[in-house]
Amino acid sequence: MENLSTTVNDLFQKAVQNEQILRRYQQFELKLLDHAGFEELLDMLLRNAVDHFQLDNVELWLYDPQDTLVELLPENYLNLPELHLFSKSVPLDQLYGKHPSVRLVTTGDGTPLPVFEGEHLRSAALIPLVRHGVLVGSLHFGSRGHQRFTLDKSTDFIDHLASIVSVCLENAVNLERLHRLSMYDMLTKVKNRRAFHQALDKEVSRAGRSGDPLSLLFVDLDYFKQINDTYGHPMGDKVLKEVAQYINEMLRKTDHVCRYGGEEFALVLPNCGQQRAMEIAERIRQQISQLMIANDDAEEDGCKEVSVTLSMGVCCWLPMNDFEEGSEDDIAKELIACSDQGVYLSKAAGRNCVHYIDLAEPETNSSMKV
Ligand code: GH3
Ligand code: MG
Ligand code: MG
Repeated sequence: MENLSTTVNDLFQKAVQNEQILRRYQQFELKLLDHAGFEELLDMLLRNAVDHFQLDNVELWLYDPQDTLVELLPENYLNLPELHLFSKSVPLDQLYGKHPSVRLVTTGDGTPLPVFEGEHLRSAALIPLVRHGVLVGSLHFGSRGHQRFTLDKSTDFIDHLASIVSVCLENAVNLERLHRLSMYDMLTKVKNRRAFHQALDKEVSRAGRSGDPLSLLFVDLDYFKQINDTYGHPMGDKVLKEVAQYINEMLRKTDHVCRYGGEEFALVLPNCGQQRAMEIAERIRQQISQLMIANDDAEEDGCKEVSVTLSMGVCCWLPMNDFEEGSEDDIAKELIACSDQGVYLSKAAGRNCVHYIDLAEPETNSSMKV
């Protein structure tokens, strides 16, 4: 009788424990499903999961054969020690063999863990992430306790979590791709015109609140049609790409480099006043004029390198204390009109130069040439 009572008690304790585990997994899965984007999803998996499941470390391996993730993820994520991207499937296949399923591994028998290299963890759950029958990644939960993930533990909850994580990752990648397609220019990889207007509106609002100056630079390539006509359209494309990338590298991460139109770029520089904006514009103008772009398809006696110059227009807005909310639209429009006017003056002055136009009076030609 006493035995029976102990067994019932044990079973009851086990049921309560399982209920708690189930709830913990469900809570985490709901959060995953509610994630706002790729970065938030990775934060949840690599950071929040540690606390939520009382782990010592989490590691995520992802199969990235075409460098899709390398392109989509910001640099600081690519450098995370917990995130490993593999261009070949071998390391993942080695973990699971032909039929991926959750593996609980421990150093209890003296063998080292196949994951968490260089860390002193003693047991781990290896969670295969499979989509459409393909092993796309592996999530690892690690513990310093060698009893945490032992073979006698049930993996039902982890199996379920694996499906949710796989679907969430796939969705996040697809959403991020769509976002890129709608906001980035495929040729030059900088923001497109739609993203430019969004960025400018956002920065005007922000400057209005903070009182910081905001500058806008318009850039137009000089005689670009001639480049196409002389060296061919693909070389023209290459020039556009290199100029955009070069400018991008010269600016801060918080600046916005955008392709405004065919061979026109718009640069939104937050927290940047007139003097600095002019210095930056001049530096860009000079450096691009010295840039030699290799012409890979040049004939024997043809030109092996192509160069290009820029005409630029600069305008700056310094928000006053009496800035009225709601007038952001007008400020953005005026910034665009003035920078455009600056380009026009630079063209008229013979090209390869920079003109500043005062925001207050775009029509009155209160311009300054550098
Ligand atoms: P200007 O100095 O007055 O600016 O002269 P321009 O030749 O640069 O200006 P124009 O507006 O006459 O010609 C711009 C050219 O840019 C025409 C168009 O075919 C070319 N273009 C626009 N988009 C692209 C593109 O994506 N790739 C290539 N290769 N050329 C493009
Ligand atoms: Mg143009
Ligand atoms: Mg042009």
